[in-house]
Parts: sequence; C-alpha cells; structure tokens
Amino acid sequence: MRLALVTAACVLATAPLQAADKKKVLFIGIDGCRYDAIQYSQAKYLKELAKDGAVSERCDVLGDRKTGADTSTGPGWSSALTGVWADKHRVFDNTFKNHNVRDYPTFLARLKTARPEAKVAAFVTWGPFRDHVFGRNEGCEYVLDGDKMGYEIGDRSVGHAAARSLVGTDLDAAFVYFGNSDSAGHGYGFHPKSPKYTNSIEAIDEHLGQVLKAVRGRKNFAGEDWLIIVCTDHGGKGRGHSLGEKEPEIRTGFLILHGPSVVNGAIKERTGNVDVAATALAHLGVPVKKEWGLDGKPVGLRK
Ligand SMILES: [Zn+2]
Repeated sequence: MRLALVTAACVLATAPLQAADKKKVLFIGIDGCRYDAIQYSQAKYLKELAKDGAVSERCDVLGDRKTGADTSTGPGWSSALTGVWADKHRVFDNTFKNHNVRDYPTFLARLKTARPEAKVAAFVTWGPFRDHVFGRNEGCEYVLDGDKMGYEIGDRSVGHAAARSLVGTDLDAAFVYFGNSDSAGHGYGFHPKSPKYTNSIEAIDEHLGQVLKAVRGRKNFAGEDWLIIVCTDHGGKGRGHSLGEKEPEIRTGFLILHGPSVVNGAIKERTGNVDVAATALAHLGVPVKKEWGLDGKPVGLRK
C-alpha cells in the first residue's frame, strides 16, 4: 500500500514535466512579407498552414502606445520574440542603440530559465539577432551574413540548417528567419503584383516546406505537440517600409498558427506581434510572471 502511494506520488510529480516536454514551438519569421502577396503567390506550404490552422490577417507590428519605434526590422522582430512593445525592449530601429532586451528577453530565453534542460535554437542571417537579441544560451546559429552573401543564398542555408537540426536533435523551441522577401521588396516593390517579390516568397515557402518535412519526420513526432507560428516584422509599400505608422500596408502584418493545440479558423481578437511570444510561452507551459510586463496575450490556442 505504502509502495503504491509512493508510486502514485512520483507519477503525479513527473507527469506535468513530461507533458511540457512534448510541447514544442517552431517560430518562422519572414521579413517584410505582406499577407496579400502570400495569397496572390503560389506559396503552397504557407497557404496550407493558414488553411488548416488559425489566421489573423491583421497583426499590428507597432502596438497602440506611442513608442517612437520605426516600422523596421529591429523593432518588429524584437516585439514578436520578447512579447513587449518598443517602449520596453527599446529597440526603436536597426541600430539597437541602448536597447533593453536584457530586461525583456526572448521567449527562448524565458523557456531556458524556466526549464534549463530545454533545447532552443535560432537560425538567422541577420547579424543584429546574434549581436543584440539572442543571449549566449539561446543557440543562435548565425548561418550566413545575408547582407554580405545575399538573402537568397542565406535563406537556403537557413532552411538546410534548421531542417538538419529539427530532424536530428531534441529541440523544444526554434526561431527560423528568412530575409529575402524584404530584399526583393526593396529592390522591386512590396506588392502582390510585383513578380520578383512574390517569387521571393515562393522560394522561402520551399525552404519552409523543407523545415516542415523535417519536423514531421522526427522520430518522436507522433508523441509531440508542435505549434508552428509564422509572422512578419512589417509589410511594405512602394520600395520601402520605414515611417509606416499610418500606412496599413506597412504596419499591418499577419499571424498564422498551426498545430494540434490550435483553434482553427480566423482569429477574432485583435492581434499584435507581441502575441507571438505570449502564445509560444502558453503552449510551452511556461508560467508568465506579472513582473515580466508582457504586452502580448496568448491567441488561437485551445483552452
Ligand atoms: Zn524587416
């Protein structure tokens, strides 16, 4: 009897940990990607994720408060990864000058703090992620220098590196960044009818397909619960996206969620980039502390 009680207590003590271990997050970031361009393109993997998942076609990249942040890459990704707006993480532009990401770390860092045994990784081609956003224990793999090598090549390498890691290691959460959509937008116009822009999204979609195949090919995939999140850091208009506070094509991004824990269909709530980190943490079972001051809330998940 006594033995049975002890056994039951052990099961109770370990069960939540085992459950949390099976919850995984793959966050795909596509730079400067307009949702109307995805819809207009032949991006089949993105369209499948949206069709079989939850979608917000209007995800605000700036937030309601006046923060002084530009509609640019640094603030957009910092808000998504940390779950707070720019008046807190203090990334207002791409200089990252006097930023405060240390006080508002990414959801990968929050997961590592809550569960030090968790394995996290980031696959990027943009130097400031490595230099300013991700700390030493967030597994940031700076695959190639996109500014130097070109983001088309960089994205392909990121896709390969992420797929290799996702199929071969026991990752719990990962950020995978693709940047050529932004380069194509600056070069040829951010617009659904700009063929080189939509082509760049289709090329990224192929890399995404490779990454998804790696996830689904994992040895333990059947016992895991993957939440896939896709968003952008800003849209674009003409050949730019800076100073886009009053431009819906620029300040409105999108959010796609996919996985067994997602309530499929249109997300009815208002969404913002800060919801990415909050949703990831909720899925991973990391309790959010009030003192973290998160601006985001979990969206699109089953209760
Ligand atoms: Zn950007």
